[in-house]
Amino acid sequence: MSRGDMAKPLLGHRSTEGDPGVTPASGRTIGVLGSGDFARSLAIRLVCSGFKVVVGSRNPKRKASLFPSAAEVTFQAEAVKKTDVIFVAVFREHYSTLCDLADVLAGKILVDVSNNTEINHHKESNAEYLASLFPACTVVKGFNVVSAWTLQSGARDGNKQVLICSNNQEAKRTVAEIAQVMGFTPVDMGCMSSACEIENIPLRLLPAWKIPIFLALGLFLCFFTYNLIRQVIHPFIREQKNKLYKIPIEVVNTTLPCVSYVMLSLVYLPGVLAACSQLYYGTKYRRFPDWLDQWLQHRKQIGLLSFFCAALHAVYSLCLPMRRSHRYLLIETAVKQAVEKKMNIWVEEEVWRMEIYISVGIIALGLLSLLAITSLPSITNSLNWREFSFIQSSLGFIALVVSTLHTLTYGWSRAFDENQYKFYLPPTYTLTLLVPCTVIIAKVIFSLPCIRHRLLRIRRGWEKGRYVKFVLPSATGEYSSGETSSNV
Ligand code: NAP
Repeated sequence: MSRGDMAKPLLGHRSTEGDPGVTPASGRTIGVLGSGDFARSLAIRLVCSGFKVVVGSRNPKRKASLFPSAAEVTFQAEAVKKTDVIFVAVFREHYSTLCDLADVLAGKILVDVSNNTEINHHKESNAEYLASLFPACTVVKGFNVVSAWTLQSGARDGNKQVLICSNNQEAKRTVAEIAQVMGFTPVDMGCMSSACEIENIPLRLLPAWKIPIFLALGLFLCFFTYNLIRQVIHPFIREQKNKLYKIPIEVVNTTLPCVSYVMLSLVYLPGVLAACSQLYYGTKYRRFPDWLDQWLQHRKQIGLLSFFCAALHAVYSLCLPMRRSHRYLLIETAVKQAVEKKMNIWVEEEVWRMEIYISVGIIALGLLSLLAITSLPSITNSLNWREFSFIQSSLGFIALVVSTLHTLTYGWSRAFDENQYKFYLPPTYTLTLLVPCTVIIAKVIFSLPCIRHRLLRIRRGWEKGRYVKFVLPSATGEYSSGETSSNV
C-alpha cells in the first residue's frame, strides 16, 4: 500500500444525525482486559457510544465500582469468552501473565493500545510481541495515540485521529469501525510493521519544531547580545551610567521584533533559493540539497514563531508606558523643560514618524495573525489550493513588505546619524533589513516578465537542453507542430 493510501481514513464519514445511537458497530460487545486508567476511560467511552462492555480484571469485586454500571466487570477468562474484540489495556511487561488465557483468546481480535517509555525501546513493537505470544489471535495496533483523558472527555470535534495497523484487513476494518462510532477518525497505517512507528508517535517531542526553535533561540541570543552592548554596556563604559534596568523589558522588546522580522524573511528565503536553483539548472526535476529541503519543510513553524515574537513585541510595547522608569524619565524631562522654560516641545517629524510606524506595525501584526490562523489544519483544509497559496504566498510577502516599512519608519534617518554608532556598531534595525531586503529584491526580479515566464515554464516541466514537442500558432491562427530544442 502506498504512503498516500495509508494516510486516508479507512472509512468515510457517516452521518448519525437524528439517529445517534443507531450505528452499525454499536450494540456489539467489546472486551477490555485491565482495570486501570485507560481501561476505565475506554469503558466509559464505549458505553457512551452504545457498545456493551465487559471488563476482565484479576480482582473484579474490588474494581467493579470504578466502572459505569452498564459495564460488566468480571474475571479475565469470563470476560474474553463473551466477546470477539478485546482491548488489551495492560502494560507490555504484563502480557506474559495473560498467557493462561491463550485457549479462550484463540481466533479473537486483540487490540494493542500500549505505549513505551522510550522511542524504539524494544527490538520489536509491543503489538508484534503480543502477536508472538498469541499466534492464534489477530492483533491490531491502535488507540495508543489517544490518552485516557481524551477518551473520557470524548473527541468532540470528531477530528482526533486514531492510527491503526494490522496484517489482517478484516480485523483492521472492525477496529476502525469501532473507532469511528466512538467519534474518532481512523487512519490506516498499513500492516503490522508500522506498529513501531505508531508506538513512537506519543513519545516524540515536537519533532518539526526543533530546528525552528533553535533558529529562533540563536537569533534571539545574537540580537539580545548586540542590543545589550548598545543599550547597557556602552552607556556604562562611556558615561558610567547604570542602565541595567533596561534588560528585562527594553532590551527584550528591541530584540523580539528583530527575531520576528528576520524569521519572517527566512520563510520566504528558501523559496527564492529554490527558484534560483531551478533557473540555474533549467529544471525542476533536480533534487534540492538536503538543507534546503529541510528548510522548505519547516517554513510553517518558522512563520508561526515569527508571529509569536511579533505578538510578544506588541504586548511588551503596550506595557512600556506602565513602567516606573518610564514615569520617572517623563517627569524628569518635564521638569528640565520647565526649568529651561521650553513651552513648545512638539516635533512634527517625530510625531509623523511614530504615527506611521505604529500604524504599519499594527497592519503587519494583523497580516501575520491571518497567516498564523490559516496555517491551522482545520482552516487549511477548508481552503482550496489557490486560496491557500494566495494567503500564504502573496499575503505573506505583503506582510514582509509591510514589516519592512515598519522597520524603515522606526529607524528613519538614524542609520545616517553617527551618534547612533555605539562602539562603531550600526543601529540594530539596519542589520535586520539585510535578509528581508534581499528577499524582496529577489522576488521583484523574479516577477520581471522574462524571468517569470522562464520560471513558470520550468515549473510546468520544461527542461534546459531537452528536445521537446512544441506547438506554435501559424499566421492564419492554426496550430503547427514540430521538434526543436527548448533551450533556444
Ligand atoms: P494502569 O492504570 O496501571 O492499569 C494497568 C492494568 O493492567 C491494571 O489496572 C491491571 O488491572 C492490569 N493488569 C493485568 N495484569 C497485570 C499484572 N500482571 N500486573 C499489573 N497489572 C496488571 O495503566 P493504564 O494507564 O491504564 O495503561 C494501560 C495500557 O494502556 C498501557 O499499555 C499503556 O501504555 C496504554 N495507554 C495508556 C494511556 C493513558 O492515558 N493512561 C494512553 C495510551 C495508552 P487488574 O488489576 O484489574 O487486572
